Amino acid sequence: MTHPLFARLEAQLAQIDSHGLRRRRRITETPANARMSVDGRNILAFCSNDYLGLASHHRVSGALREGVALYGAGSGSSHMISGHSRAHALLEEGLADFLAPHLASPRALYFSTGYMANLAVLTALGGPDAEVFSEALNHASLIDGARLSRAKVQVYPHGDVETLARQLAASQASNKIVVTDSVFSMDGDLAPLPAILAVCEQYGAWLVVDDAHGFGVLGAHGRGALEHFSLRSPQLIYVGTLGKAAGVSGAFIAAHDTVIEFMVQRARPYIYTTAAPPALAHALLTSLEMISGPEGAIRRAHLQDLIQQFKRQLTLRHWRHLPSETAIQPVIVGDNVQVMQAAADLQAGGLWVPGIRPPTVPAGTARLRITLSAAHNGAQITQLANAVNALEHNLHPGPA
Ligand SMILES: *Cc1c(COP(=O)(O)O)cnc(C)c1O
Repeated sequence: MTHPLFARLEAQLAQIDSHGLRRRRRITETPANARMSVDGRNILAFCSNDYLGLASHHRVSGALREGVALYGAGSGSSHMISGHSRAHALLEEGLADFLAPHLASPRALYFSTGYMANLAVLTALGGPDAEVFSEALNHASLIDGARLSRAKVQVYPHGDVETLARQLAASQASNKIVVTDSVFSMDGDLAPLPAILAVCEQYGAWLVVDDAHGFGVLGAHGRGALEHFSLRSPQLIYVGTLGKAAGVSGAFIAAHDTVIEFMVQRARPYIYTTAAPPALAHALLTSLEMISGPEGAIRRAHLQDLIQQFKRQLTLRHWRHLPSETAIQPVIVGDNVQVMQAAADLQAGGLWVPGIRPPTVPAGTARLRITLSAAHNGAQITQLANAVNALEHNLHPGPA
């Protein structure tokens, strides 16, 4: 007989199956790149967040090897004890300098993941007397951070600055924190950051910007959403992740020196965890050099060409292609089972595009989340667009 503890879990797993929501992991056997070997098969991949193609770049992996030679495998302890290496310190200085045009008295703090950085910002700044204003489509890590902060949380609708302004005006809290993704990870659109920052300044609120999909990609120099929108304010708290365009792992918070010093003293997700291996920080110094130098500019221009090409080549009649100018190009299929069938059909044709279902996206908006990278070439984009067009036209023959 099944133990009741197990029966409870099994019932919930059966529920997941009945909604067509069981997730399965694929085993990759090669570096993250345009061409990959997955479950023993060669495939053309449109699913990683390695937007600049740095994850498999020989200079970055070479720096990682050099970092291991210099610092060994692990950090040995937390940053507060003995785990804070020269590599971590240099990376933080480099990141603070890089973002200096957009922040006052800038300083940066390196975290082992973006999830942890987001928990850190909201739990350290928040508290029972704070009020957090959170955009409806924010990443799960921001939602969890807001919950863990014990602050009162108000959710404002996607892109709706007027509602946000009304909520801020009505708030009695002396500590107001507005938090938003810059590029929405499942939609690819941008938050109206200039208008959001204006209301934050008007009502004396912090603005926490999670630029996971913008850092390295947006802006002429790759400084991300702040550069894209030419923003500068002491009230800005910037979170960039380093496992996406930077091609390695980890994240950082960049903000006014006082904010960062407060994080070092108070942010539990920073203090009570082992520092990431210094070799990662050492490799990230090379990523940062590439992002900020001519190589990064070339890669960003190539990626932008591929995005425009893909948009021109898609000719959908029934599925909805979301209007996105970023590397995230979602195609809304709607139904959970249909989206997984579409992903399976693409895979049978040698293309890896993930199907994304609720609860990651709202019910009824299951989608193919196509991500483009500077590692792709024009012929590969044409192959993808043709395959998506053919699949949709087959399922829905005739005019729209
Ligand atoms: C990926 C992501 C994170 C988490 O970053 P990790 O370094 O992967 O933990 C946070 N926010 C957004 C919007 C993301 O897309």
